[in-house]
Amino acid sequence: MRPPDALREGPLPGACFDVAVVGAGVVGCAIARALARLGAGVIVLERAGDVGSGTSKANTAILHTGFDASPGTLESRLVADGYGKLRAFAAEVGVPHAVPGAVMVAWDEHQRAQLALVREKACENGYRDATALDRGELYALEPQLGEGALGGLSIPGEGIVCPWTTCIALATEALLAGARLALRAPAHEIARTGRHWRIATPRGEVRALALVNAAGLQSDEIDRLAAAGSAPARRARSQARVRRA
Ligand SMILES: Cc1cc2nc3c(=O)[nH]c(=O)nc-3n(C[C@H](O)[C@H](O)[C@H](O)COP(=O)(O)OP(=O)(O)OC[C@H]3O[C@@H](n4cnc5c(N)ncnc54)[C@H](O)[C@@H]3O)c2cc1C
Repeated sequence: MRPPDALREGPLPGACFDVAVVGAGVVGCAIARALARLGAGVIVLERAGDVGSGTSKANTAILHTGFDASPGTLESRLVADGYGKLRAFAAEVGVPHAVPGAVMVAWDEHQRAQLALVREKACENGYRDATALDRGELYALEPQLGEGALGGLSIPGEGIVCPWTTCIALATEALLAGARLALRAPAHEIARTGRHWRIATPRGEVRALALVNAAGLQSDEIDRLAAAGSAPARRARSQARVRRA
């Protein structure tokens, strides 16, 4: 099925939405998809001309197992959880991805001693496939490696995933689930009137009952705009912030 077109020009819809998401990076697109699939009326406002135009287009594309996260942290739990989910999503919708594995190389004695600690940390994070490699095993695995390596740690689950297609796929599924996506629609003023958030853009205003700030590096700006006319944000240790009217 062909998804509805994004709103690229002209006035924005006058309807009141359940949720307005500011920012169509990987986080905003994923949130919009999840909420639209739950039946919420969602609009995503993106200042750029396409989705994934911020940090999401410019990362190193690693599909990370989370083996080296600090154990017990929210990050460690979410990275491990996200690894399985993103891998399954990529396979399901055809996002290019691969799991070639990674090798952490020790170039001096200090680094060689650290590898055992990294392996312990990986186990604490629930990742048990990391294996120590002695010098011979390392060069057998990576014959092109420069001279002087002392040993390594193999992390066979580390993968790569196309960052652009991930955003496009998430946004497409959000649209198929009924979300609207407004491109070239930067939020530049945010106010709250009664139960509604009013988000002003150069193409007119959008109203919504809840506001999700997924503006990446500009999220502090959106937070400031929203704080100027509203109650304090419900803060969470995450990359998105939710405000309720
Ligand atoms: C060098 C580097 C390497 C990385 N490597 C990896 C990696 O290998 N694997 C991995 O998983 N992660 C990696 N990351 C992290 C990952 O890229 C980010 O965590 C992720 O892209 C953040 O997505 P986001 O949606 O929060 O932000 P963004 O992608 O920046 O999206 C925010 C969006 O908000 C929009 N916006 C901003 N202001 C407004 C406004 N006023 N109105 C409307 N829209 C607005 C922006 O245009 C942008 O599209 C890396 C990051 C960096 C910097």
